[in-house]
Amino acid sequence: MGSQFGETGVDVAGPGARPALHGSKARASARLSSCRRERGPAVVVVILLGPPGVGKGTQGAWLAERAGARYVATGDLLRAACREGTELGRRAQGYMDRGELVPDGLIIELVRQVLSGLSPDTGVVFDGFPRTVPQADMLASVLGDVDRQVDRVIVLEADDEVLLRRMAGRRSCRDCGAVYNIHFNAPRKAGACDRCGGELARRRDDDPATVRRRLKVYRKDTMPLIQFYLGTSARLEQVAADRPVDKVRDALQEVTGT
Ligand SMILES: [Zn+2]
Repeated sequence: MGSQFGETGVDVAGPGARPALHGSKARASARLSSCRRERGPAVVVVILLGPPGVGKGTQGAWLAERAGARYVATGDLLRAACREGTELGRRAQGYMDRGELVPDGLIIELVRQVLSGLSPDTGVVFDGFPRTVPQADMLASVLGDVDRQVDRVIVLEADDEVLLRRMAGRRSCRDCGAVYNIHFNAPRKAGACDRCGGELARRRDDDPATVRRRLKVYRKDTMPLIQFYLGTSARLEQVAADRPVDKVRDALQEVTGT
């Protein structure tokens, strides 16, 4: 698991271990003290990265709530914009109706709207965004416009086999969208939603072949992204996420100091 990060000097924080960032951390903190403006210590912009199924949503929402920060998942922003029928939402819907990817420029506009509505002393936790270096470039420029920058990048990590097993157990309610896992978060009655009684089914996104493809894309896009952030003042941390949710939370708490 650690090998793919070997070249960057980022090691996996296993249970009880602290992530080691060696030279990159020293470089980053040198830059921090030299050119960063005065700002409240608690107001940070955090990016949570990690492969599909690693638990970014759960952990990201928890982290944001704990830190009193705004939780930003671009998928949620897109869905909300479509639902509300805003101009950006209608444009996004057009791409999705044609089965095309929503362009980066449109997503970054949604992010810009969120940021412009936040007070400067509100932290932000980005879940799974940016996914690529061009997106990271755009995010840097949008954050720069409001006099901010990415402060921390946290990479949640787990082996593909663990993720595939997890994703294979995922079931979603067709009616209310509640998510279960037949392995460790099973509904009280098999196949039925605890909350609304709706039918539980596997989402197309969670199909093993689809998950394998998404994992491949994630691995390919993420290494350059980590290299990108190693070249900035952001602090990079890696957290092992192939363990129980509360253990992952403890590790997150430790690396973020929340
Ligand atoms: Zn339901």
